[in-house]
Amino acid sequence: MKRTITLKPRREKSVRHRHPWLFSGAIAHAEAEAGDIVDILDHRGRWLARGYYNPASQIAVRLLTFDPDEQVDATFWRRRLERAFARRRAPLIPNETTAYRLVNAESDGLPGLIVDRYGDFFVLQSLTLGIERHKATIVDALAELATPRGIYERSDEDVRRLEGLLPTAGTLWGETPPTPLRISEHGLAFWVDIAHGHKTGFYLDQRDNRALAQRLAAGRRVLNCFSYTGGFTVAALAGGATATISVDSSAGALTLARENIALNGFDNADNTFIEGNVFEILRAFRDRGEQFDLIVLDPPKFAYTRQQIESAARGYKDINRLALLLLAPGGILMTFSCSGLVSAELFQQIVFSAALDAKRETHIVARMTQASDHPVALTFPESAYLKGLVCLVS
Ligand code: SAH
Repeated sequence: MKRTITLKPRREKSVRHRHPWLFSGAIAHAEAEAGDIVDILDHRGRWLARGYYNPASQIAVRLLTFDPDEQVDATFWRRRLERAFARRRAPLIPNETTAYRLVNAESDGLPGLIVDRYGDFFVLQSLTLGIERHKATIVDALAELATPRGIYERSDEDVRRLEGLLPTAGTLWGETPPTPLRISEHGLAFWVDIAHGHKTGFYLDQRDNRALAQRLAAGRRVLNCFSYTGGFTVAALAGGATATISVDSSAGALTLARENIALNGFDNADNTFIEGNVFEILRAFRDRGEQFDLIVLDPPKFAYTRQQIESAARGYKDINRLALLLLAPGGILMTFSCSGLVSAELFQQIVFSAALDAKRETHIVARMTQASDHPVALTFPESAYLKGLVCLVS
């Protein structure tokens, strides 16, 4: 049986622009079941694209191909994976780096699929019903194309609920990765907890920005807020930071942060770890008149929906204002937002208004984004979510 989705009149523009998402509001009628591979037709019945369907989601179809002759079979998944791998060939992945993203979902033509490499192990996230249906085929293709030691699943993100899926995790193929597993990033070593860590275990998207922190840190007293397992702290120490404070609300993350600092031989430096709420800790530092030479602010996502943008902006402004107050003259602020809904322009405005309130003269000296193993397809600008500013404070 032919499974088809027919669009309402004048709703084909995004498909013609090869945007991978088709919202339920654009659909006139659907002759298909959840999880089916479907042909997308315009209101006159002309073929436009092919994708997978889930009526439970507002993103009712994720498009896979715009070529009428390309069938979605085992060869299809294999070809898409090969293309994604090709995008990661050197020189994109830096030397002495064993952990990076292999498949960046929509932007690699594989909507709903994330695959991260941690040394000899792959970690897979299936975020949609469509990927769930083809998971076994994808795992076979991954095993065949790249011969990892094991493929582990971390499909326990909340977004799966929007697709009507329950969380799931565990070994999909081959060996189970050790806990923790050791990786290398720009020659620095890190322990990663694949089974329990955030995302797939490590914030791979911040790799280039950690390297930048390393270049900026010499002789500086560093405050790393939202430190997770100490990525920016280790980088700063490698760059010659004189002392570091890492703040995070997760005790488990801080335990690993401490071990990561020791792993790189920096346990002789002046390093402190504070388990707590950054919003409160920054205020306590301000009240005590503390000063730092480099502050990193890498908070979790504050805005998940459009309704949350305003409160997210208030949160960003608050921590940025406090951080600017804590910087010594000549100090550097590396400040980030990973909320896709907060644009780079809005983020800059927020930091501007934080600087006004803090009465600190502030210059942007560099702009940061996600590492190149998280490429942004020009057809899918939504995948550019991470933005950061390096600010110099007079
Ligand atoms: N910069 C890190 C990644 C940060 S992820 C790296 O390079 O690896 C965000 C971190 O913020 C998580 O570890 C989370 O535990 C922590 N977190 C979330 N809300 C917090 C809060 N209010 N105060 C302190 N830490 C918080």
